[in-house]
Amino acid sequence: MTPSILLGAVADDLTGATDLALMLARNGMKTVQFIGVPPEDADFGDAEAVVVALKSRTIAADDAIAMSLASALALRTAGAEQILFKYCSTFDSTDAGNIGPVAEALMDLLGVPIAVACPAFPAAGRSVYQGHLFVGASLLSDSPMRDHPLTPMRDANLVRVLQKQTAGRVGLIPLDIVEAGPDAIRALLIKARQAGFRLMIADAVRDADLRQLGEALSIAPLVTGGSGIAMGLPENFRKAGRIGAIDVPATMRAAKGRSVVLAGSCSMATRGQVQAAIDAGMPALRLIPADIAAGAQPIAEIANWVLANTARGPALVYSSDTPEAVQQVQQQMGSQEAGALIEHMLANLSVVLRDNGFNRFIVAGGETSGAVVAALGVTALQIGPEIAPGVPWTRSVGTPDLVLALKSGNFGAPDFFLKAWDLLHD
Ligand code: ADP
Repeated sequence: MTPSILLGAVADDLTGATDLALMLARNGMKTVQFIGVPPEDADFGDAEAVVVALKSRTIAADDAIAMSLASALALRTAGAEQILFKYCSTFDSTDAGNIGPVAEALMDLLGVPIAVACPAFPAAGRSVYQGHLFVGASLLSDSPMRDHPLTPMRDANLVRVLQKQTAGRVGLIPLDIVEAGPDAIRALLIKARQAGFRLMIADAVRDADLRQLGEALSIAPLVTGGSGIAMGLPENFRKAGRIGAIDVPATMRAAKGRSVVLAGSCSMATRGQVQAAIDAGMPALRLIPADIAAGAQPIAEIANWVLANTARGPALVYSSDTPEAVQQVQQQMGSQEAGALIEHMLANLSVVLRDNGFNRFIVAGGETSGAVVAALGVTALQIGPEIAPGVPWTRSVGTPDLVLALKSGNFGAPDFFLKAWDLLHD
């Protein structure tokens, strides 16, 4: 009989899902990340926690609800006793959702009268106090998130933000109650439920607060928040004797094969990593969007270059460029078109390389990573050692056996493309 999973998570984007999966793995749960809605009879092997990565942050609320409910059902069918709805630690959403609508739909599905919502992640500078979200020392509404192209966050008061997205009443678990511990938190939740509240923003400014919340929520069928809220949840299963001691692997086995870095992110951290790799002498090929569009940089030529330059170590193929250059390309081609052009090229390239014996991939960029794993047909990833905060090595489940590091554009130190390989062994 396939063992049951304990914790099932539904995440609203790919690299956020990886971040959460890493958090659960680091706290001692055997964790698998599933990409897209799992089939109802999905087999998750011996995973204790499964994180489903959706792409539902900015789609229509009805579609986000449908995908999230289908995922939660598959997780429940596989045995999940607790469902975690994971969103961004900056509460990325619009007045129309999708945090509120998805949370309420999951509450209805699971028959839950009240649920906690806490995006705090102090290690990443996200804290919640008096219901207000801070990014570092700034209110969310004063942070760069106020100008996000898809989800501009112009109100730091999360009780108010969530209330605009929900039919039920939204309240607050203030810091003094969180600090008073699990019994005080549970008592407040009971009172709030009796008073008709449905969703409760929880204050948290330190990891200890998240651990108190985690303990208080040991029997909650539904928890919602950023990856920080997951910090205290594995301990509940450990105390109950359901999972083993924390045994985080420092390295990961990878079959013999070739290595490549595919960078489609133009974020500052990635551009620094590209430069550091070039400076260190890693063979590097730059993709030129206009040339690709004109057929002047065909995939066969790129693949041949990679094959010729990876006999002794990894090579880098990158499209990363400055904001000015990107803007110019976007004006010429349209931003969607330019993005899709590069994403398709890197995704198709990954397939050609896989067919030519490449099995170790670093991919930089959230959207880029999504395109590459979809093209490679990877549907599930086991979480391995942590390369940088929020970025683990992962292994694809099933065949072929690939190891992948999917890096959100802004994550990682400058030497990421050079040092990540050190965590792999034959
Ligand atoms: P990040 O995680 O840094 O946001 P993403 O991969 O999510 O990175 O997004 C970067 C987007 O920019 C992708 O759609 C990618 O195809 C596109 N892109 C990459 N290089 C260029 C370029 N030189 N000009 C225009 N768009 C680009």
